[in-house]
Amino acid sequence: MDFSVLELDEDLTAFVTEVDGFLDEHLTQDVLDEEWETGAGHNRAFHRALGAKGWVFPAWPVEEGGAGLDPLRVHLLDTELRRREAPTITKGTTGLSVAGIRAYANDDLKADVLPRIARGEVCVCLGYTEPDTGSDLAGVRTKAVLDGDTWTISGSKMFTTGAQNCQYSFLLARSEPDASKHSGLTMFLVPLDSPGVEIRPVHTLGGERTNVVYYGDVQVPDHYRLGPRGHGWSVLSEPLRAEHGIGRDDAHGLAEINPSGLTYFHTLERLLERTLHWAVTDVRADGASPIDDPLVRARLGQVALDVEASRNTPPPMGRVLASELLIRDSADIIDLVGPKALIGRGEDGALEDGVIEWAHRFAQGTAIYAGTTEVHRNIIAERVLGLPRYARYPRATPR
Ligand SMILES: Cc1cc2nc3c(=O)[nH]c(=O)nc-3n(C[C@H](O)[C@H](O)[C@H](O)COP(=O)(O)OP(=O)(O)OC[C@H]3O[C@@H](n4cnc5c(N)ncnc54)[C@H](O)[C@@H]3O)c2cc1C
Repeated sequence: MDFSVLELDEDLTAFVTEVDGFLDEHLTQDVLDEEWETGAGHNRAFHRALGAKGWVFPAWPVEEGGAGLDPLRVHLLDTELRRREAPTITKGTTGLSVAGIRAYANDDLKADVLPRIARGEVCVCLGYTEPDTGSDLAGVRTKAVLDGDTWTISGSKMFTTGAQNCQYSFLLARSEPDASKHSGLTMFLVPLDSPGVEIRPVHTLGGERTNVVYYGDVQVPDHYRLGPRGHGWSVLSEPLRAEHGIGRDDAHGLAEINPSGLTYFHTLERLLERTLHWAVTDVRADGASPIDDPLVRARLGQVALDVEASRNTPPPMGRVLASELLIRDSADIIDLVGPKALIGRGEDGALEDGVIEWAHRFAQGTAIYAGTTEVHRNIIAERVLGLPRYARYPRATPR
C-alpha cells in the first residue's frame, strides 16, 4: 500500500486541465439535473462525447477505439469523472460485460460490437437477476431453446439497470434443463431491439431507475451466444469477479483499495462535505454555528474516519463495511442535523440541495446490489476465514 501523495508534473497537470475543460463543455448543469431527476445513470450525448475522445475505455489502444492512456492518466480521468458526479452507471455495466465479450464472443461479433462500445455508440446492461433468483444466481429460469441456428429466449429479468440506455443485454439463461444447476447455463449478448423484448421502468427508493425486462419468445441467432452452450457459469465468472473487485491487476499501485465499495464511500464523502458546509454556515438563535459544538465536531469526525476506513478496506470486507457505514452514518447525520434534513431537493427549506435527505434513501439499497451484504458475509466466512460452507444443524426430532 502506497500512501504517498501523487505529484503532478506539467504534462499531467495539462491532462487534468484537458479533462476539466471537457467536463465543463459536456457535463453541463442540464446533464446533472437530468440525472438527478431520472436516476438513469447515463446521458447519451455525454457518453458519446467520452467515446469520441476514446475515454469510454481510455486504456484501450487508439486503434481499438481507446485513447491509449497510461494507468496514471486513466486514474486521473476516473477521479475527475467521479468528483464531478458524471452519470456513469451504464458505462460501468458495459465495462463489466466487456471481459465476457472479449473472451467468448465469436470474431465477427467482437469486430462488430467492441469498436462501437469504445466509441460510446453501444452500451450493455447486465441481465442476471430474475424475479425469483438473485443471490442464488445459478438458479436462473429464463429459458433458451435452440432450434436450427436460432435460440428462443423466454422469461423475465429483474433489476436490469440501464436497459433503457443499452443496445444489448449480457444475459444468463438456462439452456440445458436436465443438466445440473451450474452446468445448464449459457450466456448471450441479446440485442434489445429484438421483437418480444419489453423494458418496464422500476424506480427505487434511492432515486435510481432500474428495469424489469420481459423476453417473450425472443429470437436470437446463435451468433450472439458467448462461449459454449452449458458453459455460461464460466463466461460469467470473470465479470462477477470484476464486479466484486476480486483479482485485479494493479501493477502500478493506483487502483482503488476498495473498488466494490467505491460508490458507497464516495457518497459518504459527498454527504460529509455537505454536512460540514451546513455545520459551518448554519447560524442558531444564539449566534453560534453547529460546528462550534464539540459534540457536532466529534460526530462529524467519526464520519470522516468512516470514509477513510471504507476507502482502505479491501474486498470482500470493504463492500460490506462501506455499505453498512453509509447506512449508519447517513441516519446519524439526519439525527444530528434535525428535521430539516428530511426536506427533499426542490422543496421549501431543503438543506444542501437535498443531498442529506437523498443520501439516507440511497444508502438503504447499497446493502443489496452486486451481491447483498449477507451474501458477502458468507463469502468472507468461506473464502477469507476458511469456515465450512454451510452450517449443519441437527434435524429437529419429531415430538
Ligand atoms: C437498484 C438495484 C440495481 C440492480 N442492478 C442489477 C443489474 O443491473 N443487473 C442484475 O442482474 N441485477 C441487478 N440488481 C439485483 C441485485 O444484484 C439483487 O437484488 C441481489 O443480488 C439480491 O438478490 P434478490 O433481490 O433476488 O434477493 P434474494 O436473493 O431473494 O435475497 C433476499 C434476502 O435473503 C438474503 N439471502 C439470500 N441468500 C442468502 C444466503 N445464502 N445467506 C444469507 N442470506 C441470504 C439476502 O441477503 C436478502 O437479504 C440490482 C438490484 C438493485 C436493488
